[in-house]
Amino acid sequence: MTTAAALRYGVIGNPIAHSQSPFIHHAFARQTGIVLSYDRIHAPLDAFAASAGAFFQAGGQGLNVTLPFKEEAWRLAQARLSMTARIAGAVNTLWMHKDALHGCNTDGAGLVTDLQRLGADPSGRRVLMLGAGGAARGAAPALLAAGCSQLHIANRTAQRATQLCADLLAHLPNKDNELSAGGLSSLDGQWDIIINATSGSLDGTSVLPQALDLSRAILAYDMVYGAQPTAFMAQAGSQGCRQCADGLGMLVGQAAASFAIWHGITPDVAPVLTELRERLRHTP
Ligand code: NAP
Repeated sequence: MTTAAALRYGVIGNPIAHSQSPFIHHAFARQTGIVLSYDRIHAPLDAFAASAGAFFQAGGQGLNVTLPFKEEAWRLAQARLSMTARIAGAVNTLWMHKDALHGCNTDGAGLVTDLQRLGADPSGRRVLMLGAGGAARGAAPALLAAGCSQLHIANRTAQRATQLCADLLAHLPNKDNELSAGGLSSLDGQWDIIINATSGSLDGTSVLPQALDLSRAILAYDMVYGAQPTAFMAQAGSQGCRQCADGLGMLVGQAAASFAIWHGITPDVAPVLTELRERLRHTP
């Protein structure tokens, strides 16, 4: 009897030691009976393309890409991008097929499935997204595709938000009425869902404008996750938002969408999310 050789996958970034992706993909593999290895790959800041190339040259099948390489990965897979990745301008999933590198962005799919899990389907909702970096680029096309009635992108550097808005409209000109962008100041109006796509929470900063009335909001969602509620979640709660969540479900959801691309099977997110939440609770 022969044993099937493990298929090789990994996550590439800098820094990378903190990544929970190996835990998630190994859990999906056990669930679906697929034999694979999944490792963390630390790429030097000036050598992403060489590191990813070496991985695939050595027989690797697929890579997840994280900070700060998502836009470089997009350029690397330029010839074969999914529509989502093309619009987003950022790639978090790479794979080799027939000797050609392919790229997709599953961050948005992971976010939308998590919003749905939390009872906050974006369809028909007014959505305020704070941030205009790589994560916001992945999320915006998926939020528009999910049918939000309004998407306003607000960023500390307003010009970056208006650029993202212009890039989106270049691909989706029919979304002109739904999409707007600007800075973090003078944000008013009522929002159903507020998404924090900034990295502010990583150093304990809440980017939520204090004057914003959240009493009618159904969810404040921080893409950052941790053992404790983030500063953004705490502030949103104190400003009247009835439900606040972190981005752990998005993390597992984007991984499930990558797994489905690579293996043709969509794993069950729920048990892995429960396990990961428990694991995070015990992380010092
Ligand atoms: P990025 O490309 O570096 O963008 C960072 C964003 O945060 C920019 O919009 C930046 O504004 C803003 N920002 C940073 N510090 C700020 C502060 N103190 N006040 C106001 N705005 C601030 O990073 P990214 O790839 O978009 O990732 C953003 C966050 O999402 C990260 O923390 C990442 O861990 C998280 N994320 C989570 C998931 C998940 O699955 N849960 C997936 C992807 C990303 P400027 O443009 O003005 O600098």
